[in-house]
Amino acid sequence: MARKHEGPRQPLSQRRPKVAVGKKSAVPRVGRKATSVPAPKATAKPKLTPKPKRAPKAARRAAPDALVLYDQLQALYPDAHCELDFATPFQLLVATILSAQCTDRRVNMVTPVLFSRYPTVESLAHARQEDVEEIIKSTGFFRNKAKSIIAMAGALVDRHAQDVPSTLAELVTLPGVGRKTANVILGNAFDINEGVVVDTHVGRLAGRLGLTSETDPVKVEQELMKLFPQDRWTTLAHLLIFHGRRVCEAKKPRCSECTLATLCPSAGIGI
Ligand code: SF4
Repeated sequence: MARKHEGPRQPLSQRRPKVAVGKKSAVPRVGRKATSVPAPKATAKPKLTPKPKRAPKAARRAAPDALVLYDQLQALYPDAHCELDFATPFQLLVATILSAQCTDRRVNMVTPVLFSRYPTVESLAHARQEDVEEIIKSTGFFRNKAKSIIAMAGALVDRHAQDVPSTLAELVTLPGVGRKTANVILGNAFDINEGVVVDTHVGRLAGRLGLTSETDPVKVEQELMKLFPQDRWTTLAHLLIFHGRRVCEAKKPRCSECTLATLCPSAGIGI
C-alpha cells in the first residue's frame, strides 16, 4: 500500500545522489549554484605521423685483446709510474691515505711539510691532531685523514716495530687502509703484484675499454686480474691512470685524439 505524501517514484537517472551525514560530498560545491561540467568536445583523432626511423646503431666493437691493449698503453706511456712523491713505504702510505678525493699534485705539495715536521713513524704517532689537520687541510676531509694517519702510525709503533708490513692481510688491519691503498703500497713500495689498484680512473677506463661490465671496484679488480698476467698488475693500473688523466677524462674523453680509438668499444662517446 502506498504511503501518504509519497509521490510517484522518480526514475533512477533523475534521483539526486544521497550524501552521508558528516561526510564530504565527492562533488565539489562552488557557491550555491550547481555547476555543470561541460562535456568534452569530440575532437577529431589527430593523424599519426610515422616516427622517423632511427639510424641503426653502429655495431659495438668487441672488447680489445687485453695484451694488445696493454702493449699500446705501454708504448704510449713508457714511464707510467706512481705520481705520489715518497721516499719510504711509510711516506707512501701516508701520501696514499691523503690522496683520497684529492689530486696527487695537491698531496705532493703537502707531504714535504708534513714529513719535515714529523720525520719518523713515532713522531707522527704522537702528533697533535689539530697540528696535523692544519698541515693537511688543503687535501680535503682533513679531520678524518689526520685521525687516520696518526692512528695508522700508532698501529705501526705498537704492532710492527715502526715498519710498514708487506702483506695485504696485515696492511688492511691498519687504520685508514683498505684493499686499494694496500695494493698501492705492495705494488709501489715492495714490488709485489698482489692485486690491481682500482681507483676512479681504472674503474672508468676498464668499463669504457670493454674490459669489464662490473662497476664495483672489487669486482672490477677480479676481472682485470683474470685478463692480465700477474707481473703486470701494478703497471696496468699506472697505465690506465695515465690515460685516464691525460686523454680519457671522466667528463670529456678525447676520443678523436685517442690512439686507442681503433681498439676501444666506446670510441666516439667523447669529442
Ligand atoms: S676512444 Fe674514447 S672512450 Fe675509448 S679510451 Fe679513447 S678516449 Fe676513452
